[in-house]
Amino acid sequence: MRHPGWLAALGGAVLLLAGCGTPGPSGLSGRACLARLTDQAVRYRPLAAVSAPDSRCQVDTAVRVSRVEAGLNHPAVMSCGLASRLDDFEREVVQPLAAAELGRRVVRINHLGSFSCRAINGGSHLSQHAFGRAIDVAGFRLSDGTTVSVEHDWSESGPKRQFLRHLARRACSYFSVVLTPDSNAEHHDHIHLDIGPDRLCSV
Ligand SMILES: [Zn+2]
Repeated sequence: MRHPGWLAALGGAVLLLAGCGTPGPSGLSGRACLARLTDQAVRYRPLAAVSAPDSRCQVDTAVRVSRVEAGLNHPAVMSCGLASRLDDFEREVVQPLAAAELGRRVVRINHLGSFSCRAINGGSHLSQHAFGRAIDVAGFRLSDGTTVSVEHDWSESGPKRQFLRHLARRACSYFSVVLTPDSNAEHHDHIHLDIGPDRLCSV
């Protein structure tokens, strides 16, 4: 479901007031956002700019993130707003869910990429990845060394399946678009999370 265009155009602050379930600070950018990342103890480096073959691919307050609360399997370039939201989501949802349902902490987030200058399905409409506002999460490493994999555990019965499905459902309160293996074949091995202007909770 999409917000009406006029509402999307008003930005994240109004969306929050409208009760759409996506809490701030997606509207934060620039130094205020970087200061918040520092307060959150996110490990990041600010980037002056991103290089992309298409000049439409721009990232608001680009950062290279190596750790939110858990480390990332490899550093990722993303917008500061996404980094901040990802950290909120990890601390408030991922870690408590992992403790309650798996009895472990998440020590690493395995992702397939964030910023990527590309269109959706080969069309002309740019993906939110092209703005660093999306990340594809493939799974998690737990404190006992085992792994939760979206590809393998999304459909296998057991506590890891429940963990992933609860996590994805709650992600809809943090991210404006959540796509899962149930969405389409392209997402068979990851959960797409973005803070773009559209709204879709496909869980
Ligand atoms: Zn994605």
